[in-house]
Amino acid sequence: MNEKNNNNRKNYLIFAVIALILMLLYNSFVIPSVKKAQTKDTNYSFFLKQIDEGNVSKVQIKEDEIIYNVQEENGTEKLYSTAKINDPELISRLYSKGSIDFTGSIRTANSVAEFIVSWILPLIFMIVLWNLLIKGMGKRIGGLGNAMSFGKSNAKIYVKAQTGTTFADVAGQDEAKEALEEIVDFLHDPQKYTEIGANLPKGALLVGPPGTGKTLLAKAVAGEADVPFFSISGSEFVEMFVGMGAAKVRDLFKQANEKAPCIVFIDEIDTIGKKRDGQPSGNDEREQTLNQLLTEMDGFDGKKGVVILAATNRPDSLDPALLRPGRFDRRIPAELPDLAGREAILKVHANKIKYDSNIDFNAIARATAGASGAELANIINESALRAVRNGRKLVSQSDLEESVEVVIAGYERKNAVISSKEKEIIAYHEIGHALVAAMQKDSAPVHKITIIPRTSGALGYTMQVDEGEKFLMTKEEALARIAILTGGRSAEELVFNTCTSGASNDIEKATKIARAMVTRYGMSSSFDMTALETVSNKYLSGDTSLICSPETASKIDNEVSNIIRKAHSEAVKILSENSGKLHELAHFLLEKETITGEEFMSILKSDNIALT
Ligand code: ADP
Ligand code: MG
Ligand code: ZN
Repeated sequence: MNEKNNNNRKNYLIFAVIALILMLLYNSFVIPSVKKAQTKDTNYSFFLKQIDEGNVSKVQIKEDEIIYNVQEENGTEKLYSTAKINDPELISRLYSKGSIDFTGSIRTANSVAEFIVSWILPLIFMIVLWNLLIKGMGKRIGGLGNAMSFGKSNAKIYVKAQTGTTFADVAGQDEAKEALEEIVDFLHDPQKYTEIGANLPKGALLVGPPGTGKTLLAKAVAGEADVPFFSISGSEFVEMFVGMGAAKVRDLFKQANEKAPCIVFIDEIDTIGKKRDGQPSGNDEREQTLNQLLTEMDGFDGKKGVVILAATNRPDSLDPALLRPGRFDRRIPAELPDLAGREAILKVHANKIKYDSNIDFNAIARATAGASGAELANIINESALRAVRNGRKLVSQSDLEESVEVVIAGYERKNAVISSKEKEIIAYHEIGHALVAAMQKDSAPVHKITIIPRTSGALGYTMQVDEGEKFLMTKEEALARIAILTGGRSAEELVFNTCTSGASNDIEKATKIARAMVTRYGMSSSFDMTALETVSNKYLSGDTSLICSPETASKIDNEVSNIIRKAHSEAVKILSENSGKLHELAHFLLEKETITGEEFMSILKSDNIALT
């Protein structure tokens, strides 16, 4: 504090000196020359001549010059000046003309204006300029300033109401909110907890996939808690020089201790909290920073009321020392929202836009299984944009439905040129998926089929929407999904007697499911319930790594291809049994380009009735 005041005083002193010098210069050079510019210097003889000719109407006799008005021939008046000469007859000469207004020089009201122009205005101008300069420099040399004040943490401090976010802005995530509300409550009223002898966790770690509202939750805590809230991102600790990150951690905790009770939030903590692997080439800087963090977390008194929140989507990569009791001992999951959660999130964000009164958010929530809160927020925003694009004042159901697809598959490529032959193949491919889906009992109903290409590269797709929320997948459902995925290719084979590259995405997905069935879900007969793969990084890429011998690995491959082969022949069987409907539906789709689940089912059923 003191240091800052001193700095300020020094700044102002420098400013005062500079201002004084500039104003002296201004008054002694600029103002006189401006004044000079207004009048034109003339000879004394010219002046006398003008008087004689009767062109002069006003004369001001100053100490060392005479300023006078001359009526030009074209009627305009001009100001002239001339040096003053000791001319005793001047007065009588002027007086004898009779029509000339003449005076000496006295400083009157004019001098107030002059004072403002010559002293006040430049002063104001300089103050404004100085402030701009200081601000600009602060920004530009901010980095430099940081590097020079080694190891100052640049955590942002929020106090209540500044983030403007509260728990009401976070929909779903009830477990996370409950856990965080307890922390807020502790900070409001620590007495209640200390009386009974309870220690609140020092730290809580928010974990979950990207976009599930971890950062949002932390901001909401800041909004709810009546205490200072320090927010810093893990990457801000990463510095060029070894030891600076550690110094920043030290500074952060020093500040937090001074401000206790308070909350410290470290976002994306995995950037500094990665496992220390002990390799000689390890990242020294990161390890030092982490060590400092561990030490600081041990060092402060939990009763004092400093609570540390952190967020990450890679909890498995965190150093175990961070997770032991006494540090981040509480883990708050922020999972992908379920059906009810998705509906609630849609509604929270819909409050920010204007929409039709009859919107069915539940239908949208059902169509977005697996979407994160961030994606749902994006869907709402896309729908509002679409409404504006179409010149409407309210968002409608169709805006929402279309933006679901935009977020999933990208924008429609309206002017993509696709030959009619290819269009036909695509139509059969999609109907192949849909028909296999409709003809099996363990699959979700078809919601929409389209062959309008999307910017994601999809040439068409079949959307299935479950009635309710599914938490488990049975073996039958898994097999049905694989069969549906192979349905597109099966239709191509049946109708065109060839296959295309259009099935590559289906193949990838089908293989993923089949592989998981064998290696992780224990759904194959030959391996029973043996775990053959582990998932690392489950919130991000969901990558897996094999944990078995090479011989087993090749058996797994066999098993996987058997599952897919079986499903494929099942799909071919279904389609050839229903080939009449396959053709009818494909032609209908070709003509319409997009059909709804109802249209699809009515054609399918009408056929069935005709058969029986
Ligand atoms: P992350 O978990 O990756 O930190 P964020 O908290 O940054 O995710 O969320 C990004 C955005 O997604 C938020 O600003 C918010 O608009 C939206 N969002 C995510 N989860 C929710 C939720 N549960 N309720 C409301 N909005 C949410
Ligand atoms: Mg985040
Ligand atoms: Zn397909």
